[in-house]
Order: sequence, then structure tokens, then C-alpha cells
Amino acid sequence: MLNVIIFGAPGAGKGTQSKLLIEKYGLTHLSTGDILRNEISENTELGQHTKSIIEQGKLVPDDVICKIIEKKISEITETNGFMFDGFPRTVNQAKMLEDLLTKMNMSVAVVINLDVPREELVSRMLLRAKNEDRPDDNVETINKRFDEYENKTVPVADFYRLQNKLSEINGLGSIEDIFKRIESVVGKYLID
Ligand code: AMP
Repeated sequence: MLNVIIFGAPGAGKGTQSKLLIEKYGLTHLSTGDILRNEISENTELGQHTKSIIEQGKLVPDDVICKIIEKKISEITETNGFMFDGFPRTVNQAKMLEDLLTKMNMSVAVVINLDVPREELVSRMLLRAKNEDRPDDNVETINKRFDEYENKTVPVADFYRLQNKLSEINGLGSIEDIFKRIESVVGKYLID
């Protein structure tokens, strides 16, 4: 089992790189952002409950996120491992993930921290707003999402740094070049 977390600020390229990683290593993609957007588009109770929080750029409460992850993990019976994308976003979520994986005799192998300067993040997100029509990619919400990231999510990097699991990756350059950097780290954790 190869469990990988892709970490980074909004707009760092987590979704793009996750897709390449799951293809290459046969991992199961667990993106809490994608799951929530899907719930909203299907107008489920969870979607109705979280829509306005997401549109304001705030984080969805930990207990809601943890239930989603627990449910998704328990539904998967066969996989090479999980690719966590956009989760954990708080230290509480990271602790919950650790407890959950320990119960299942698993652990997080590596956390890829995509490092991208703030100006580049903003311009990528504004471009994405045009291309993908995401309701949370507007200037006001983007700023709120950065605040949430700085205050609540950055400590998650420290949590994994202390466990020697954090790997810093330069997130600037072409998609292929960034992927090569990630591959060279993730490849080391593969067990035949
Ligand atoms: P993302 O696509 O990962 O940027 O997520 C979009 C939005 O969904 C975030 O701005 C949050 O409002 C919400 N969200 C996604 N993942 C989480 C999480 N792990 N914890 C709290 N909120 C989340």
C-alpha cells in the first residue's frame, strides 16, 4: 500500500499532479474538494449543507470531512494505495487520518508539498476561474482561501515535517517537469 498526500496552497497544482500520480501508480484518488463539488452538483443534503461554506472560501468543519473520508476508505476493498488531495487541511484532520489508517494497519508514506509563490498561485486560480467556472475562484474568495490555508493548513505541513514525511517539491515549471520531480520522490517508497 502506498498512501500519498499531495499538499500545497490553493492553485498549487495538487489536482493536476494527482491525476498523473494515480495513473502511474494505480492509486485511488480521494479529493475532498471534488467529492464536495459532486455533492453540490447532485444537490444532496451534504451538498446543500456545504455549498455556502465553500462559496465563501471557508473550510468545511472537520467532522463533516472526516465522515466523508472514513466512508470513502471503507468502500474501497482493493487498491495499491490512496492519493489524498486537499486533505488533511487541519491538524485535527491529520490526526484523524492517522488514527483511521492505524486501525487498518496502514500509514501515510509521504507528503508532497508543492511549493509555489503567492503571485503565481493567484494568476493560476484566476485562469482556472475562466476555464472551469468554479464559483470559489474569484478574488474575494481566493483571499479567504489563502487566509484559511495560512492559519489552519500550514500547521499540517509541520505535523508531517516532524514525522520526517514531508518532501518539498518546487511547483514551478511545466506539468511534466513537476511530475518528474514528484516521481523521483514517490518512486522511492514503492515496495515490489
Ligand atoms: P479544493 O478543491 O481542494 O480547493 O477544495 C475546495 C473547497 O472545498 C475548499 O475551499 C473548502 O471549502 C472545501 N474543502 C475541500 N477539502 C476540504 C478539507 N479537507 N477540509 C475542509 N474543507 C475542505
